[in-house]
Amino acid sequence: MKREQVSPPFWILASEFYILDSNFDFESSMRCPICENPNAQARYRMTDRFFEVSTDQFWLYHCSSCDLLFQEEDKIRDRLPEFYPSGYWWQEAGKLSWLERTYREWVVRHDQLGFVLSLFPDRQGRLLDIGCASGTFLKLALQAGFDAFGLEQSEEAVRIAQRVAPGRILEGNEQDLIARGEKFDILTLFHSLEHMTDPFRYLKNIQKLLRKPGQVIIQVPNVQSLQARILGSRWYGLDCPRHVYNYSTFSVLHLLGRAGYRIQRVRHFSLRDNGAALVSSLFPALDTMSQRVKLLKKKGKLHSLSLSIKESAYLALVILAQPFALLEAALGRGATVTVYVTLD
Ligand SMILES: [Zn+2]
Repeated sequence: MKREQVSPPFWILASEFYILDSNFDFESSMRCPICENPNAQARYRMTDRFFEVSTDQFWLYHCSSCDLLFQEEDKIRDRLPEFYPSGYWWQEAGKLSWLERTYREWVVRHDQLGFVLSLFPDRQGRLLDIGCASGTFLKLALQAGFDAFGLEQSEEAVRIAQRVAPGRILEGNEQDLIARGEKFDILTLFHSLEHMTDPFRYLKNIQKLLRKPGQVIIQVPNVQSLQARILGSRWYGLDCPRHVYNYSTFSVLHLLGRAGYRIQRVRHFSLRDNGAALVSSLFPALDTMSQRVKLLKKKGKLHSLSLSIKESAYLALVILAQPFALLEAALGRGATVTVYVTLD
């Protein structure tokens, strides 16, 4: 099938173009897995721009009804584990510079933990952080007084997180915990849901982990954000091919409602993610995480003057991006959407 050329706006600092050819194997339309619109259209052909774990190309489909951007699950389900590079969101503290370690903790404390504390100021209840990666949020939640645990599937991440929060990491998936009869009062999924296949079934399934009334906090990138709209396929928040589903505010709320949750609060600002997503999209060569992942792969030096300069420049740009991030959030078009839902 012949399709038009998709190219980024001319003013973006771009090094790649996405030219759609006639020989690439894809369906031109798909059924939207969230709202069941039968006519979601192929929109972007993507490569793994940031981590380069695969040289393959991946199609993202767009649903014009709920604004979801998604991959065809059947094509990638079995391959998902191979898309995660060593060091993806779970780098050891010793491999991070002091600046990055301090910055990461500071933003998680003021962003994710701050939101959780605003909802549960008495810090009561058993909390499970699903997809806890290297355990930064978990460590801070424990320090704040929560009876907190982390669930993680990546062996490498589990090994790192065990050092950060000893005895608090549960290795495996939600099925393992359900089989063990584990129950929690609060579930947090910070940037986890977009990585999962069949999210409706997943959201129904984790209800078996909740003691009622259950409380769930979900944070995902927002394709309805101003920066996602402006940047298109070059937006960092798409993180192709690791994100199976790229939600809009509408689609994630629709999905949560369908799964039986009651929407209590929606937030569009994220100190940790929104400014950073904009800077990483515009200046991918400065993105500190992907730089470190690539250096790890090449066994390069993780502490060097050039990396320190890049990190400092990145941080300065993230600070400069905050007014735009605040404007997006004020318009309800922030790059991240955080939703607090309950289950009666
Ligand atoms: Zn849809």
